[in-house]
Amino acid sequence: MSYSFSHPLYRESELIEENDLGVRNVAQRKLLDELGIPSDELSVNEFIPLVDYLLFIVRDVSMDPNPDEVVEVKLSKWKIKTLSVGGRLTLIKSVLTSLPLYHMSLYKAPLGVLRDLESLRRKFFNGADINEKRFSMISWNKILASKQKGGLGVSSFFALNRSLLFKWVWRFLSQDASLWHRLIAVLYGNRSPFVHTGSVSSLSPWNCILKELNSLSAKGINLLALLKKKVGNGANTLFWEDCWINDVPLSRSFPRLYALELKKGITVADKLIDASFVASFRRNPRGGVEEEQLHHLVELVGSISLSPSNDRWAWLLGSSGEFSVHSARTFIDDILLPFVGDVTRWVKVVPIKVNILAWKVCLDKLPTRLNLSLRGIDIPSIICPNCGLAGESCSHLFYSCNLARTLWRKIARWWEIDITDFSCYEEWIAWFKTTRFSKAQKEMLEGVFYVMWWMIWKFRNQVLFGSSHPRMELLFDDIVSYSFTWCSNRCKNNIDWISWMKCPKSISL
Ligand SMILES: [Zn+2]
Repeated sequence: MSYSFSHPLYRESELIEENDLGVRNVAQRKLLDELGIPSDELSVNEFIPLVDYLLFIVRDVSMDPNPDEVVEVKLSKWKIKTLSVGGRLTLIKSVLTSLPLYHMSLYKAPLGVLRDLESLRRKFFNGADINEKRFSMISWNKILASKQKGGLGVSSFFALNRSLLFKWVWRFLSQDASLWHRLIAVLYGNRSPFVHTGSVSSLSPWNCILKELNSLSAKGINLLALLKKKVGNGANTLFWEDCWINDVPLSRSFPRLYALELKKGITVADKLIDASFVASFRRNPRGGVEEEQLHHLVELVGSISLSPSNDRWAWLLGSSGEFSVHSARTFIDDILLPFVGDVTRWVKVVPIKVNILAWKVCLDKLPTRLNLSLRGIDIPSIICPNCGLAGESCSHLFYSCNLARTLWRKIARWWEIDITDFSCYEEWIAWFKTTRFSKAQKEMLEGVFYVMWWMIWKFRNQVLFGSSHPRMELLFDDIVSYSFTWCSNRCKNNIDWISWMKCPKSISL
């Protein structure tokens, strides 16, 4: 077997092909460079080569990712401060999440390491320096939760790591010809690799994966139950012990018949040759329960006809039956992460940062003065900085404040729609759901409301923290022009500025 290295900075010692020594040298260096595991802690002999570059480590190592390095690779600290929250979310999902992928796909990441990595992402998302503690109104788990459950859909590293591990199980089951399948089959037996065997080290990667499957199962995450055998010729499926026709093996649905079976490991193909199903039984079933079970079994299996194709495994969460890490991740996250609320609303015609603000408005999770004081944070005043007439809650700031009311009315006139005064998000969303527009127009209108909230929040922050007082009379014009820029850039149809200013409702989309 030969290896080629695309990296230009390969070293002489990494070109040794004999016993995969070169690859093991690379791995040792990478562990030091990228994860801070000193090379004297792991000698090259302790890497077990599997397929090409893939290596396993079969003992626990202390892993201490260097936070500065993880961030430095992708962004300087200066950039973190100036990036918008939307930019940060995209980067977190694409860059920071893919960074540890390589490592995570190799072995089970200890919970402590996952916690550290999540903490890095959390701080990054909140715009804080790595070593700085910053107050956040929303728990990180809610940001990780899927949009279906009301979160932002960032997804946890835990789910990523465990799904990647499960992919090895999938590869074993679905790729009979692969080196990986052959390796596991040689070590653990082709038929029962899912049973712990005493002869192989309990720290072996396969046993680690099996152990993890059990521990996930104890948490209510049974990944193996999401696999189903699709029978073709029946030659590679166990009649009693595999899940192939029902969600449970037939041995469990028909325990009395299974007890009579002499060939417990008989394949579907072999069993179906005998139409009576009793040829391989110890004796014929007797009246009562046994007869009844046989009757049901014949009813269930009697009509099955085999085809010439090979038996194959199907992943129940994928429409094609193919396993995907994404579907497994979502499945794990949905069980472990909190339910936040209704499906997260997401408007494509405005930027991510505006959507995130709207999400926080919906959940009442903005650091308004009232919210801060309710959380015991000492602040000089809880009064709305825009009007000075009421406590600054989300409902006040975006709905009942005079400033907000004026903007709501201006938007109503601009769009030529009837809007009554709302006093909170719930009233607004109930009204919005009943409005009658085309899908595209409705999305733009929702986007305009989000932009209004964005502008109000920005205005309020300038009043409180800015050096000069912002001008209230420019707010509406800003809403019109910003929403035009964002919508026209993100919308497939052409939108012209004159029609937008006059009345966006009249633009045909
Ligand atoms: Zn106010």
